[in-house]
Amino acid sequence: MRRAALAQGRSNLVIINSCAVTAEAARQARQAIRRIKRERPGAEIAVTGCAAQIDSARFAAMPEVSQVIGNAEKTSPESWADLGRSSVSEIMTAKTAPHVLSEGVEDHTRAFLAVQTGCDHRCTFCVIPFGRGPSRSVPMEDIASAARRLADKGFCEIVLTGVDLTSYGTDLCGAPSLGQLVISILRAAPKLERLRLSSIDCIEADADLIDAFAHEPRLMPHLHLSLQSGDDMILKRMKRRHSRADAVRFCSELRQLRPQIVFGADVIAGFPTETDAMFENTLQLIADCDLTHLHVFPFSARPGTPAAKMPPVAGEVIKARAKRLREAGDAALGVHLALQTGKTLPVLSERGGTGRTEDFTRVKIGDFPPSQMINVVIAGNDGKMLEARSLALDLLEPARNHGAQALVCNT
Ligand code: SF4
Repeated sequence: MRRAALAQGRSNLVIINSCAVTAEAARQARQAIRRIKRERPGAEIAVTGCAAQIDSARFAAMPEVSQVIGNAEKTSPESWADLGRSSVSEIMTAKTAPHVLSEGVEDHTRAFLAVQTGCDHRCTFCVIPFGRGPSRSVPMEDIASAARRLADKGFCEIVLTGVDLTSYGTDLCGAPSLGQLVISILRAAPKLERLRLSSIDCIEADADLIDAFAHEPRLMPHLHLSLQSGDDMILKRMKRRHSRADAVRFCSELRQLRPQIVFGADVIAGFPTETDAMFENTLQLIADCDLTHLHVFPFSARPGTPAAKMPPVAGEVIKARAKRLREAGDAALGVHLALQTGKTLPVLSERGGTGRTEDFTRVKIGDFPPSQMINVVIAGNDGKMLEARSLALDLLEPARNHGAQALVCNT
């Protein structure tokens, strides 16, 4: 979007890519717009993203906003041509797949490839399908060649993103699966060191994807699961497609195939009708699935969704349950961090003196250039991230991510 706007000569422009996943996210977008206008009164403000798509009239009515651009239009260069020309099309009939961003993003260590957008599910709490439209996928050949270009440009890591990633390909000729896509990317981009998936729906993971986790070391041993609850009745009321047992089985099978794998998950605290016992099932899921990275969302009713009409849980109960889940998540992360002490781990360095291990755990590495693959010895942790022992970390030659490269360090 930045490149497209700059190409149209719009250098004094602030783009707000808004989120609608919770009411709070949409409120924060409006707050950010007002703050930015105060800080930069001369700048134009354009708003896009899901909150702008779902409630374009509200954003267009804000005096601070010069332009509202829909999700289907935001990656098209023409949309950024005219100040004041808002364009938000009917997303529910959108047919076009996302634009493949094969140039990478400035200042980013890893490249993100949006391979799918939209969602055909209707989870009862969610407004995202109304912001992103039906599920659409980018053809496999386009993604494979984009991945090759990115790897040739020097990106060590690519993350595949999508709204409902595991529905990848169902709209394409021959219905290629996400697993087949992963294999084709790794074949097409031999220089690529790390391929990572964003969030997936465990019940939709295909056999090729599971097989790839077992056999492809360049597919990173980290999965973020959209679990949402650990109680079967709540999962049913959410209209999710997996049961508690499915989630536990999936994690255990994957761990058998790839013992280093680490799981993260999204969970919602205080979904309508959730009793204490139902909540305890969710809390217990952290241990039963051995989850490490937890994203906790206190339930927030989105107008127009079926869940907004269900009997709500009291606000203070939602808060208290979210707190307990976060504490349990912090404890689980603490256990994982402690287990890494003394290990030598390959890390991809980022800006700001940190990097990520293969399983996406953050490591403090000190002053070191970004986008480098290095091996570090883990000295300890600060409860949130790992700490590397060495201050002088030697660069590895390229493509040493998975070999048993000895650590070279000066301490
Ligand atoms: S799978 Fe459910 S939660 Fe995820 S985007 Fe689709 S409707 Fe929303």
